Amino acid sequence: MTDFDVFWQRFPRRVGKLDAVKAYAKARKVASAEDILTGVDRYIANKPEYADWCHPSTWLNKGRWMDEDDRRSGADRRTETRGDDRRGLEWLDECQRIHGGSCGSHYRHDFTMKLAEMKAKAS
Ligand SMILES: [Zn+2]
Repeated sequence: MTDFDVFWQRFPRRVGKLDAVKAYAKARKVASAEDILTGVDRYIANKPEYADWCHPSTWLNKGRWMDEDDRRSGADRRTETRGDDRRGLEWLDECQRIHGGSCGSHYRHDFTMKLAEMKAKAS
């Protein structure tokens, strides 16, 4: 079993194998097999319910094995990853708390939050 095979078995979505082989070879130039597998485990543990699993080639090409654990470092990442799909969990939690989850997207939620902030300042 090659390193790639191990990765392939571990990854939750097995589509586009040839692309994945290429992307994996590229990723291995900058990361160890172990780092990538640890990243897969973290990805599996952190993916929000509403999001689909990435294609493995996309996941590798974006260097997603380096993603941090969103749940643990959520507060620090709030501004840093604005507009990134990894914000998913945070805004949804916040939106459910404040707006009953009615915003539907983090753009709308950010906008609603900003508006409320402006109103609070004005009064
Ligand atoms: Zn909201």
